[in-house]
Amino acid sequence: MTTSRLWHGFTDMSTVRHRAPFTITRGQGAYLFDAEGRRYLDASAGLWFCNVGHGRAEIAEAAQRQMSRMAAYSTFGDYTNEPAEQLAARLAELSPTDGASVFFTSGGSDSIDSAIKLVRRFWLALGLPDRRVILSRENAYHGGHIGSTGIGGIALDREGFGELITDTARVAWDSAEDLEKTITSLGAERVAAFVMEPVIAAGGCLFPPQGYLQAVAEICRRHGIVLIADEVVTGFGRSGDWFASRRFGVVPDIIVCAKGLTSGYMPLGALIVGDRIAQPFYDGTAGPFFHGYTYSGHAGAAAVALATMDIIEREALAQNALSLETRLPDLMSPLTDHPMVQEVRTGQGLMAAVELNPQALRVTPGLPMAVVASMREAGVLTRSLVGGQIQFSPPLIIGNSQATEFVDAVLTGLNTIP
Ligand code: PLP
Repeated sequence: MTTSRLWHGFTDMSTVRHRAPFTITRGQGAYLFDAEGRRYLDASAGLWFCNVGHGRAEIAEAAQRQMSRMAAYSTFGDYTNEPAEQLAARLAELSPTDGASVFFTSGGSDSIDSAIKLVRRFWLALGLPDRRVILSRENAYHGGHIGSTGIGGIALDREGFGELITDTARVAWDSAEDLEKTITSLGAERVAAFVMEPVIAAGGCLFPPQGYLQAVAEICRRHGIVLIADEVVTGFGRSGDWFASRRFGVVPDIIVCAKGLTSGYMPLGALIVGDRIAQPFYDGTAGPFFHGYTYSGHAGAAAVALATMDIIEREALAQNALSLETRLPDLMSPLTDHPMVQEVRTGQGLMAAVELNPQALRVTPGLPMAVVASMREAGVLTRSLVGGQIQFSPPLIIGNSQATEFVDAVLTGLNTIP
């Protein structure tokens, strides 16, 4: 075996370096193929991103057309490019707020850190520099940068780094009352923003309790707190609409997106910023937002995003996610009676998780990983989430048969555990 020099994220390299590598060489639709030509269902859409599925030649052609014109160029100052302009206009149009502006980044973590910096500059510009505290939720995952890790709600992700960011606080993931209480105890005049994933993804596929999102939006509005919806996972059809915020009738001040924006064909992130926040930067009172990235507004990535959005629209993929949402409980019902399954979690859109029984997890702590490994043997790729849940978030192009393929593989996995 040759020694790989590739250092894998979130991975214990002391174990992986001794294993034969598992190399994915290509994909078509909802399926991937390994170096030996074996076919696998991509039951997690990679890391929740491949909404339109693999092997989309038209996306590659859009990139090729744009990249054969130029590499990228800066969008600082008055420089711009056509794909970035078109994409910004299209995202602003989809935003639930009127007159939104779009700030581009290279991914989800970039976008969350940008949003944190933006709201702190916003409050400073309004003469309220004490509004600095960023509130977030337990179990939330917002990315791997200093800021996004620091506000994350998964303790393991923060361990060993010391204090990453000051002036933060976390609230219970499922309680609007806890948000209200925390704001009252801190003093609303100290709180800059509340960041939340409409559906918590990596933290366990946790759907919001009935009325939760509307309640937290109302609390933020009443206290003047900036509401940031992290739609890195829930955007671009995954939740049954372009954005979960639209689906739930919530109007955030900032929507953060990435992943499904390009379906993973190119790294790209964006902040869709409502007029209330953008205005002081546009009318000159706030001065410049002294922040940006080399690849903010990357022309090739923007062309890829436009081609991806064309597919989502033309093939009505958000509607397909909506229609699967109603069928998922039935399709996944063979799992509910399995003694090792605690709950099959379904909710809005094409996101689900199989929560394993806590007793089974106590007896066999490595159970989720063993199930996932056995599913791979059975031709289905997915992963386990922090609480041991098995993730189901395939490309939005699937039908009933792929959901059944996933269910059968989970059952095979569970039944091969001694
Ligand atoms: N926000 C959410 C909800 C995510 O799930 C992720 C990544 O999984 C991020 C932010 C960070 O995105 P990226 O990995 O593109 O930096």
